[in-house]
Amino acid sequence: GKADIECDIMVLGGGPGGYSAAFRAADLGLSTVLVERYATLGGVCLNVGCIPSKALLHVAAVIDEAAAMASHGVTFGKPEIDIDKLRGHKEKVIGKMTTGLAGMARARKVNVVQGVGQFVGANHIEVTTAEGKKVVQFKQAIIAAGSSVVNLPFVPEDPRIVDSTGALELRSVPKRMLVIGGGIIGLEMATVYSTLGARIDVVEMMDGLMQGADRDLVKVWQKFNEKRFDKIMLKTKTVAVEALKEGIKVSFEAADSSVAAPEPQVYDLVLVAVGRSPNGKKIGAENAGVAVTERGFIEVDAQMRTNIHHIYAIGDIVGQPMLAHKAVHEGHVAAEAAAGEKSYFDARVIPSVAYTDPEVAWVGITEEEAKVKGIRLEKGLFPWAASGRAVANGRDEGFTKLLFDAETHRIVGGGIVGTHAGDMIGEIALAIEMGADAVDIGKTIHPHPTLGESIGMAAEVYEGVCTDLP
Ligand code: FAD
Repeated sequence: GKADIECDIMVLGGGPGGYSAAFRAADLGLSTVLVERYATLGGVCLNVGCIPSKALLHVAAVIDEAAAMASHGVTFGKPEIDIDKLRGHKEKVIGKMTTGLAGMARARKVNVVQGVGQFVGANHIEVTTAEGKKVVQFKQAIIAAGSSVVNLPFVPEDPRIVDSTGALELRSVPKRMLVIGGGIIGLEMATVYSTLGARIDVVEMMDGLMQGADRDLVKVWQKFNEKRFDKIMLKTKTVAVEALKEGIKVSFEAADSSVAAPEPQVYDLVLVAVGRSPNGKKIGAENAGVAVTERGFIEVDAQMRTNIHHIYAIGDIVGQPMLAHKAVHEGHVAAEAAAGEKSYFDARVIPSVAYTDPEVAWVGITEEEAKVKGIRLEKGLFPWAASGRAVANGRDEGFTKLLFDAETHRIVGGGIVGTHAGDMIGEIALAIEMGADAVDIGKTIHPHPTLGESIGMAAEVYEGVCTDLP
């Protein structure tokens, strides 16, 4: 058939993976089309994920910190919350960022085509736009169509039952709220809503919250947050959800005989945050010959190529961890490979952060993973109770932990729990990428007094140099 638009490279999906790939491809001289169904670029992350959640979490952190000042001799009184204005603030943040992205696309002459794309061949995609169907012909393509929220089959449609997108809409603050799923997204939203005044229960099927993080980090977070929650129900399955006039009735079952099933409860708001699933089966991939797994993932090689040599895939749609910074990195690799560069994905580690209060951040191998794999680790741990800055901040509950290979003494992992942990974990990622050992880190002069200094201190603890903690 005839094509309406021809290009060197077509990127499907305008999320962090897709726009990063499109911008890099254009910078490398390829004529680039970016297909996105929504009016704004930025995907899940910018519109209904990373950024709006952080706008709200920042407000929550300020409210909590203001309240904590009472014990330092400063009282602000009860916060007055104008929820419409707060929502407006969040919308403004998103607007600033999406406007910026649109400008960056224009500056690079990336042709953004708004509409739903479906592959119709190995070199063609059909885009259903407001002005009808358009066929884009491409020499190469990058699939960056992301992921969608997973719904529980037994959950009815009701405005009082929301997913993360609904929770971010912040329509009202409920009295009693249930968060189904104790992962990062659920706990971040729980942090926001509890600070705004909701009483919150969390139900999680596994035996701990924030799966993937070492338990010592999570323990600190959980102890600090004890008062935030009414109940944290672990090893508990949610088995029925009923929309009643007086609220949403939720029934539970014990996941195994070691715990008792809690009684059914009635909530004003229920957030379902049980994970996300890849969009591989929704884009007509089969028409292009691109293989999609049973679960909807697209498999790729180190250059992010699919089984079809000229079609790449990146971001949430290619696998875990479903994180924006992974999508961006992969987007750059794919665009560079498509432009003929010898780029490939060789990052050793991808950091994870829960932007809760305190923050929990980890990177590289964890102690739990090492145990399972039989890898011998040694650690250096610096408790923030010994950090002058953390004590001055009134937030010394955290710690910084570095994990070293027992033979080479090179750093292979690390974790931080405490305020601003997410801002600090990048240094540990850099150290791992550079093959740093404990001496490299310990002998690097960190500014005093900072929280980041705790990374140097942890290395010195490991080295046994630092026997007299300040
Ligand atoms: P997406 O962002 O999902 O973008 C895919 C895009 O493709 C979408 O814009 C979609 O509209 C478009 N699309 C799909 N199919 C079609 C089609 N057929 N035609 C046209 N367009 C199509 N990650 C972090 O790293 N840090 C965080 O703090 C963080 N917080 C999060 C908070 C929440 C509440 C959620 C839900 C997620 C969060 N994430 C976070 C995860 C992060 O949002 C994703 O990992 C990231 O957005 C993935 O980027 P992507 O480019 O692969 O896909």
